[in-house]
Amino acid sequence: MRGEWGTSVCLADGLWRIKLKNPRGHLMVNTFAHRGDGALVVVDPGWPWTIDALDVALDEIGLGGIAGVDAWIYTHTHVDHMGAAALLQARSRAPHHVFEEIAPDLPMWHAYQDRMADWASWIEGAFAPPRGAMMARAARARRDAGESSTMTDKYGPGALSGAVTFALGETLRLGSMKLEVVEARGHDPRHVAFWEPGRRWLFAGDAVLPVPTPITPSMGDDVVEYERTLERLAGFSPELGLIGHGTHVMGPERWREAVARSSRYVTDRREGVMSALGAAGDGGLDLWSLCLALTPEGKVLTPSSRWAVFLATTGAHVERLEEDGSLVRVEGPRWRVT
Ligand SMILES: [Zn+2]
Repeated sequence: MRGEWGTSVCLADGLWRIKLKNPRGHLMVNTFAHRGDGALVVVDPGWPWTIDALDVALDEIGLGGIAGVDAWIYTHTHVDHMGAAALLQARSRAPHHVFEEIAPDLPMWHAYQDRMADWASWIEGAFAPPRGAMMARAARARRDAGESSTMTDKYGPGALSGAVTFALGETLRLGSMKLEVVEARGHDPRHVAFWEPGRRWLFAGDAVLPVPTPITPSMGDDVVEYERTLERLAGFSPELGLIGHGTHVMGPERWREAVARSSRYVTDRREGVMSALGAAGDGGLDLWSLCLALTPEGKVLTPSSRWAVFLATTGAHVERLEEDGSLVRVEGPRWRVT
């Protein structure tokens, strides 16, 4: 189905994947809606600025708009998945089911989102001056510009009150779905996946994507946790792998391939970092030059958001390799192979 709001596909009996048009950029999120036993459950309702589109989408699909939702549930905290949570509360009385570790941040939800969007102090530490200082200034200027003003400025503190928390290993009964909560940290330190054993559906969030899953050190992400998650998710044989962006994955074999591809993205980047720094010799490289050395043409990637994610994910690898003693940080900061 197609509308002003975006597109939707019915993936299985009672299950829809909805992609809402993002007025602020090209990145689209997969929102999943399931109706069973008369209850409508929505997984990852999307950006703060696509709520109206979600309302129309749910209505046109025949699910009764936001008012028809009986439960909201989230794979992780990121703004494209959970950014709308507090705002939805004003329009829906349905409970929000969230991972218990997120609970401390819920009373100031928009401030939490603003902190996650602020990469400036990480940038200052990760890049050699003057580039680091310049990039951090640019990041702050973008945030302070009217267009991308903080969520707190735009919408207030955004307390998400009355959320229902769940723990790892718990089984949630939402409508006719049974959802087992699976640990899926890495892309977000509080990322989970949901396994529906009866139908063999795996709601995997951004743990598996068609592109390298971003690992952003300033948001507390971690490469090692992420690799453990991939190992864990490789153990599932879903009929439907329901991922946060791109096309859903059909069948166990495709799922294994998708997880293997995500693992390869990680090992390729790690090997790329080690070989580029090995080639640079004792002087090493700063993070910017290292990233340039890792791109196919030695050029900055476009659009700038893609380059920012590339810098961050490479930075996460460098931090990890420094921790395990494979790399050493020298003046700059630059890194060289030990
Ligand atoms: Zn996402």
